[in-house]
Amino acid sequence: MKSIYSITRKKLEDYFISNNDKKFRATQIFEWLYRKNITSFDEITNVNKDSINKLKEDFDFNSLKIITKQEDKDVKKYLFELSDGNRIESVVMYHDYGISICISSQIGCNMGCAFCESGRLKKIRNLTVDEMLLQVLEAQNDINERISHVVIMGIGEPFDNYENVIDFINIINDPYSLAIGARHITVSTSGIVPKIYEFAKDESQVNLAISLHAPNNEIRNKIMKVNKAYNIEDIIKACKDYIRETNRKLTFEYIMLDGVNDSEECAKELSNLIKGMNAYVNLIPYNETNNIGFKRSKKEKIDKFYDILKKNNINVTIRMEFGSKVSAACGQLRSENRKVN
Ligand code: SAH
Ligand code: SF4
Repeated sequence: MKSIYSITRKKLEDYFISNNDKKFRATQIFEWLYRKNITSFDEITNVNKDSINKLKEDFDFNSLKIITKQEDKDVKKYLFELSDGNRIESVVMYHDYGISICISSQIGCNMGCAFCESGRLKKIRNLTVDEMLLQVLEAQNDINERISHVVIMGIGEPFDNYENVIDFINIINDPYSLAIGARHITVSTSGIVPKIYEFAKDESQVNLAISLHAPNNEIRNKIMKVNKAYNIEDIIKACKDYIRETNRKLTFEYIMLDGVNDSEECAKELSNLIKGMNAYVNLIPYNETNNIGFKRSKKEKIDKFYDILKKNNINVTIRMEFGSKVSAACGQLRSENRKVN
C-alpha cells in the first residue's frame, strides 16, 4: 500500500477528484497530517466517513524506527530503520539561524567517488518520498523543535532519484505541510548534467550545490567516476544555464584532499574556470575515514588556497565543521549500517 506521506497535495487533489470527491479535502488531510501530526485516519473529525474509508483502503501510515541516536554538542545523528530492514542516517544540526537536517536520498550510492564513505557500497535502491519526509518528521518529533532548513547531502545522489526528490521538496515546501522555504532547502549533486538543466526549470528557488572537487578533468576523473559521463566543461555549461535561468547564485563544493587537489596551481585553475560566474566556492576540510586513505589538506594549504581564490575575486568560504566526533560529518555517514542480506 502507498504511504500517505508519499503524496504531494496536488496529487492528493487529483486523487480526490478522480474519486468524485472534493478537491479541498487534500488541504484538510495535509493539515491533519502535518499540523496536528495524526498517526491514524480515525483521528480526522471534519471529513465524512466514506472519504475516510476510501483513504484507509488506499493509503497507510508508515514510520521509521530510530535505532540509535548519537549526540555531540550541536549535532544529533540518527540511524533509522526502514520497513524493509535497510538502514539510513540523518543528521540534525543546531545553528544560530535555526535547525537544519541533512537527509539521505538513497540506500548506498552508485557514483563511487573515491573519497566518500557513503558511496563505498553500491546503491541498493532509491528512497521513496515518504522515507525522505519521515527523516524530517521523526527527527522533528524527537527534538520537539521546528526544523527550519533541509539539505539533501546525506547518503546517495539526489539527482539519481530525481522524481522522488522533487516530490519530497514539494511536500516540505508546501504551506499546508512543513512550510520550509525553498531558499532554506539545498540539494547537492555530484554533477548529473541533464538533471541540472531540469532542476533549473523545476525548482528555481531551491539552492543548488555542485560537488566539483577538482579544477580539471585529469584530477576529477581520478576521484569522481561520474566525471567520465559528465565532464567539467559540461558541468560548467549547465551551471551557467542554471544561473541564467534562475537568476540565483550556486555553490561549488570543493573538498580539500592533501596532495590531490590542493596546490596553488589548482587554486589558480579553479579561479579561471569559474571566473565571473554568480557562484561561490565552499572549501570543505576533508573528513578522514578509516577505510579510504585520503588525507585532509594541512591548514596552511587550505588558507593559501582560500587566499588565491579571494585574490582572484572568487567568493569563497571555508566550511565550518560539524559532527566529526559522532561521525556525522559529510562523507562519514556509513553504508555499513545497512542491513546485511
Ligand atoms: N551525492 C551528493 C550529495 C551527498 S554527498 C554529492 O556528491 O554532492 C555531500 C557532500 O559531501 C559532497 O560534496 C561530497 O563530495 C562530500 N563528501 C563526501 N565524502 C566526504 C568526506 N569524507 N569529507 C568531506 N566531505 C565529503
Ligand atoms: Fe555518492 Fe555523493 Fe558520495 Fe559521490 S560524494 S559517492 S555522489 S554520496
